Amino acid sequence: MNSALLPAARSAISAAPRPIVIASANGLKACARAMELMKAGSDTLDAVIAGVNINEEDPEDNSVGYGGLPNEEGVVELDASVMHGPTRRCGAVAALRNIKTPSIVARLVMEQSDHIMLVGEGALRFAKTFGFQEENLLTEKSRLAWLVWKKSLRDAGGHNNWGPGLDAPEKPPASLRRDFPGVDPEILAWAWDVAVHPPAGTINCLALNGKGEMSGVTTTSGLAWKIPGRVGDSPILGAGLWVDQDVGAAGSTGRGEENIRVAGAHTVVENMRHGMSAREACLDALKRVARNFGNDRSKLARFDLNFYALRKDGDYAGASLWNGRIRQGQLARSRFAVNDGGESRLEDCAYLLER
Ligand code: ASP
Repeated sequence: MNSALLPAARSAISAAPRPIVIASANGLKACARAMELMKAGSDTLDAVIAGVNINEEDPEDNSVGYGGLPNEEGVVELDASVMHGPTRRCGAVAALRNIKTPSIVARLVMEQSDHIMLVGEGALRFAKTFGFQEENLLTEKSRLAWLVWKKSLRDAGGHNNWGPGLDAPEKPPASLRRDFPGVDPEILAWAWDVAVHPPAGTINCLALNGKGEMSGVTTTSGLAWKIPGRVGDSPILGAGLWVDQDVGAAGSTGRGEENIRVAGAHTVVENMRHGMSAREACLDALKRVARNFGNDRSKLARFDLNFYALRKDGDYAGASLWNGRIRQGQLARSRFAVNDGGESRLEDCAYLLER
């Protein structure tokens, strides 16, 4: 090995690490649970999976697991990947239906099969072999959002088959209030918002313990209203998640298609191997995303992408393509969750572009 090429990475891995867990912004509780388990002696992979199970089982997190927004046919399809640093083993599932916790099934693929990734019907049968019961993952709130999305669609003439048609004078959301008279107006406003701005969302969680061991997990219901069978970056090892026990770990949330095109998580870890800080490594990967669009801001403005990175020496960062999202005229900064032993907190992401 030409060690002259790797000066910073070499110094990075020589320092004694302090335990740390980072995650996407929806991971405050996940980080806290993972840290608590690591303090009690759990393995890093067990810890991060137990952390994200909170989101997978939470009906109010509509980007992950139970309650996730469905595909265009109203069916929730989940993707997840796991990677265990010390053994360098990994597993993934994609387009898995009817099972709340795809991260656990991904770990089963890693531990109980000679494969790395199972998808669709095969992944479901595999999960059932290990005792998982099928459940309906569509909550009433997600079903409402799906129906509102169907109503929001228009052909070139402004027509939609899921509404009363040409004789309907009002425009949404006024017409929605008439269509859904019993529904809380706040929920209806949320449903309209997610219908016309299909959200993405996911949880990525990365951990480092005091022995320097690392693991990561990414789990998601993917892009709302996707074509059935669409698989994003979350279960793609090297895109939605990568862990290299010698260097560090990285994961991603946001528009998976753009992450896959730069093999994001692997790129971030390789950047750290070559001496970049976690922050620099994420920003460099985001520059490649921008380059794929010739740095055209109007095209880049149509999506966001976030990377999270944790180096083996404890250096960490979150970074986003954009500094945040404009919500009701205000900039909502992109953040990520951190726990280094006390309470979990949100920190600002670094960013490439300003809105
Ligand atoms: N990355 C996920 C996907 O593309 C979605 C997200 O994180 O928002 O499936």
